[in-house]
Amino acid sequence: MFFMEKKKDIRALSKAELRAFFVTHGDKAFRGDQVYEWLWQKGAHSFDDMTNISKQTRAMLNTNFVINHIKVDQMQRSNDGTIKNAIKLHDGLVVESVLIPTETRSTACVSSQVGCSLDCNFCATARLKRMRNLNPDEIYDQVVAIDQQSRYYQNHKLSNIVFMGMGEPLLNYNNVLKAIDKITSDEGLAMSPKRITLSTVGLPKMIKKLADDEVKFNLAVSLHSAIDEVRSKMMPINEKSNLAELLEALQYWYAKTKKRVTFEYVVWKSINDKKKDAEALAAYCKKIPSKVNLIEYNAIDDGEFQQADSKAVDLYVRTLEAHHIPVTIRRSRGKDIDAACGQLANKN
Ligand code: SAH
Repeated sequence: MFFMEKKKDIRALSKAELRAFFVTHGDKAFRGDQVYEWLWQKGAHSFDDMTNISKQTRAMLNTNFVINHIKVDQMQRSNDGTIKNAIKLHDGLVVESVLIPTETRSTACVSSQVGCSLDCNFCATARLKRMRNLNPDEIYDQVVAIDQQSRYYQNHKLSNIVFMGMGEPLLNYNNVLKAIDKITSDEGLAMSPKRITLSTVGLPKMIKKLADDEVKFNLAVSLHSAIDEVRSKMMPINEKSNLAELLEALQYWYAKTKKRVTFEYVVWKSINDKKKDAEALAAYCKKIPSKVNLIEYNAIDDGEFQQADSKAVDLYVRTLEAHHIPVTIRRSRGKDIDAACGQLANKN
């Protein structure tokens, strides 16, 4: 019987490993640097793209490795300029990533998992079961693809990255951190970590781990209610780790990083649109240096939940401001093409 040996993903190798590979194959370590640059800076999709590498060496690479590059399978442009991409992975699975342009910046919203396991009952991605984690290079490639779109359509490079696409980034901790390392390193895209925000449902253990690892990027937590019964109803994860545990982890995060956390918060009709809800949020925020981003709700198919009216949102703004807690309202982009927060569900 034959066993075809599976070729290795060349981008799973570090630069040092790649250099060592060439030395053991009778070449110079420097060849590893050249190939590494093709893989991570010049965006090569195949070994044949590597024009300063000899044909013989390219053939040798081809017999040993594959490049599992992502493919932008479908691209939709919204009338507000937002672009949603269906990204095909090497095994045929699909994730979505979005370019959100404004006059002054271009933000990439990237996915960290195929599907999601967390069951937030207002989120379209929760309807898809979690299939697998993305690899570091699959996360990195989304950023590169969106940077290229930004340069082409907006005439400037990508300025910000948010991990607010499909999946829970802290449940794919190592790969997300590896991708961010590459995005911020000089050998990758040399982007500042200050321009990267990781958004999480709020897993206390993992938030503490981020603090211990002294990460330099920003942290956003999807809060949606500062009352346990309400939050548990919307986000089942709150039954496993409640608001008090979350707060303790965030205080730990702040003590170590001195970085203010952002709370993402949707105000829903009849769910969290009362004065007591706004006051609970203000009281919670007072215990941890934070700011609040009020997000517009993007309805998903079944229409079970509705955005609260503007009076309720004003009430939140007034209550938070009275307690000197910074608050902003995030207007949704790309709604007409289902590219807004919580709408990523591989509809096509
Ligand atoms: N798992 C991470 C990141 C993905 S969701 C997290 O939960 O933070 C990105 C943001 O979109 C989160 O704040 C989430 O609560 C919010 N969101 C999900 N569904 C939404 C919807 N239908 N309308 C508006 N925001 C939504």
